[in-house]
Amino acid sequence: MKILVSVDIEGIAGVTHSEQTRSGNGEYERARAWMTAEANAAICGAFDGGADEVLVNDSHGSFRNLLLDRMDERAQVVTGKPRYLGMMAGVEHQCDAVFMVGYHSKAQTAGILAHTINSFAFRRVKVNGMELGEAGLYGALAGELNASVALLTGDDVFLAETRALFPGAMSVETKRAYGNASCLSLSPALACKRIYEAALAAVSNVPELRPFILSKPPFTCELTTQSPGQADLFCQLPSTTRVNDATLSFQAESMYELLRVLNSFSAMSFMLR
Ligand SMILES: [Zn+2]
Repeated sequence: MKILVSVDIEGIAGVTHSEQTRSGNGEYERARAWMTAEANAAICGAFDGGADEVLVNDSHGSFRNLLLDRMDERAQVVTGKPRYLGMMAGVEHQCDAVFMVGYHSKAQTAGILAHTINSFAFRRVKVNGMELGEAGLYGALAGELNASVALLTGDDVFLAETRALFPGAMSVETKRAYGNASCLSLSPALACKRIYEAALAAVSNVPELRPFILSKPPFTCELTTQSPGQADLFCQLPSTTRVNDATLSFQAESMYELLRVLNSFSAMSFMLR
């Protein structure tokens, strides 16, 4: 059994403010240590539950957050960007299941630090009419590559959004949202204990799970941007269609292709910052 642990930072216990998610300050240095500890809890639970191999995908921002010298030595890490498979890179090595650790709810919801891929540029992402956040988009990419989502950890809003997409997945509520930047959180230590237990149980559930298949390809992606200027920019790509002032759409033959286009838009958006 091979597991990919994809680790974001916004859903980690104790993280509640964007300062904690951006490099260059002491609060971030503390938060990335908590992130590393939750990743280790998931890795350790996976091995103790019977996994033969564990890959870890550093899935936040620069994709260089985990403190590698503190990471469980048995796991290998996917680090740095850009990469075609983004938050799922590693899953192509025939992983059976994915653990989503420290994930957050989609843009325009009341979860802690809610956003979808790029909070500066993306207001809403719909695929074949269904609004999806990062877990839904990347869970569908994992599904396309035959891997199921077996563990979800993050705040209560994130879990409410994703439990229906991934039936049978284990979950850990690390904190309860009061809003975008405040919460009632577990201590990092207790969050790690619960993630370890859930990861352990998740491994034995994997054979019962089904990969998340959103619908048959092709896919129509409708992207609403935070401002019309961003839609102007993204529509420079000839395969896009302008839907209205701040919305555009494009077609993709696979979730892999769809996410590559979204991540290219995200990179383009830095021009307007
Ligand atoms: Zn993130």
